[in-house]
Amino acid sequence: MVSRSSRAKPGAAVPAELINTLTEWFGKNARDLPWRRNPTPYRVWVSEVMLQQTRVEVVRGYFRRFMKRFPNVGALAKASEDDVLAAWSGLGYYRRARMLHAAAKQIASDHGGRFPRDAQAIAALPGVGRYTAGAIRSIAFNGPAPIVDGNVERVFARLYAVPQPMKSPAAQRLVWDWALAWVSQAVASGHSPRESNQALMELGATVCTARAPRCISCPLKQLCRAGTAGRAAEFPLSAPRSRSREVHLLFVALGREDGALWLVRRSGGKPSSLLPDGLWELPHVEWPGGDSRQAVHAMEDSLSCGLRAAGAAAVCRHSIMNTRLTLTVQRALATGSPRWPHGQSRWFSPEGALKAPIAAATRKLLSSMARPATLAL
Ligand code: SF4
Repeated sequence: MVSRSSRAKPGAAVPAELINTLTEWFGKNARDLPWRRNPTPYRVWVSEVMLQQTRVEVVRGYFRRFMKRFPNVGALAKASEDDVLAAWSGLGYYRRARMLHAAAKQIASDHGGRFPRDAQAIAALPGVGRYTAGAIRSIAFNGPAPIVDGNVERVFARLYAVPQPMKSPAAQRLVWDWALAWVSQAVASGHSPRESNQALMELGATVCTARAPRCISCPLKQLCRAGTAGRAAEFPLSAPRSRSREVHLLFVALGREDGALWLVRRSGGKPSSLLPDGLWELPHVEWPGGDSRQAVHAMEDSLSCGLRAAGAAAVCRHSIMNTRLTLTVQRALATGSPRWPHGQSRWFSPEGALKAPIAAATRKLLSSMARPATLAL
């Protein structure tokens, strides 16, 4: 049982023993990750943005390719948005890539191409929130900045048996207070912010994991409230879940005799879609599922041509946040030239389509489709 009196209070000091133990463990157990070698502000920034919502194993390859393609802020600032999105293609959450690109341009124009060191200037960069700013300041510049990601939240929630749902404002205040106390105590104890912050994140990523915490081999097992009480799996507490939403999208695959596919690109949020704006995709509409005739008529209006369904090519499942999508691709024959008034449209070879800036859902659809139906325009 975790006693109420044993819980840490906001602003409570973090015992030096915790930090000493964990940084020593980190020195022996840190994973060899590409962005940990030569942790320049640019490399730390790009890796941290990629790691938001994406697993380390997926990011490794993307990070290496991105660094080869855009080795520094200047190269990223000069690149076209299409090139940046293509390098990001498949990582999802494309707003991250656009913000990264916008921030690189800002660094080029406002800071002479040098990554700013000042906390306010870092926080003013597009897409840089409290977490990313803390990562850049502590890991790249080795400054005493706090950092809280999902791993740090989980470790603190268990170390101190936090009694509130982790996403609640009260719990967030607690963990940021502890994160600040952590890095301050680390510096006072002669540790570097770079090592002590990464040690905390590393423990959460490799030992104090969400589904299977390995308390038995944890360096903090004697000091952890939830762990010593055998209650690690109960923390962090979560708020009641909102129910997920089911949405059906009908896509139309228009093909040419040479196998080319007709893709479109929405701009300015029109027509609105659950898929990200500004990426190449198959034209689609939302529909209730079941009989697709209404949806096909809506598509005909949208493309200003008649369509004759030629059988379903593929059905895929995809999730975006708490929305579960059923994606159905309908092969079609057009009885006129399709038009796309909401942005760009063009023909792609099947290989070219997969190399273009496309969302993960589109990649899934294209990969699962057999050769598209021949289109008689
Ligand atoms: Fe996490 Fe268990 Fe270690 Fe506590 S003892 S920090 S719950 S792995």
